[in-house]
Amino acid sequence: MEVSTGRSFLFRVDEGEEIVGYLTRFLEKKGIMLGTISAIGSIRDPVVAYFDRDEGGYRNIALKGDYEVVSLTGNVSVKDGKPFAHIHVALGDQDGRLYGGHLVSGETFVMEVFIQELKGGVLERKPRENNLSLWDAEKLED
Ligand code: ZN
Repeated sequence: MEVSTGRSFLFRVDEGEEIVGYLTRFLEKKGIMLGTISAIGSIRDPVVAYFDRDEGGYRNIALKGDYEVVSLTGNVSVKDGKPFAHIHVALGDQDGRLYGGHLVSGETFVMEVFIQELKGGVLERKPRENNLSLWDAEKLED
């Protein structure tokens, strides 16, 4: 899909917000159906997930305590008719070790977010045989 840029948003999320729910509500409020998300900050008790191909599902990894959000990156597309944020994170602990994965939840301490809305069409997530909800693949033929 070829896209062009729409509105851009740069903001701080207040302390104590569940970040995935907050970002989803922000997307719904602004009517953003396609875009990219990036952020840095600090998060408490994050839950990340690892997709286990053998088990055919996500395995949650619950981390306790405060982590630096070294990198948060994601995209926005449509799932079940609503904006859906797919977010991955790299999280640093007090010794600088990194953990990461598909972000399920976490409570903000500080979070500085950039959202870039994109325009050009509808990109929809649909359930697939591998138990993932994915976009149609881009085909290079023709
Ligand atoms: Zn993911």
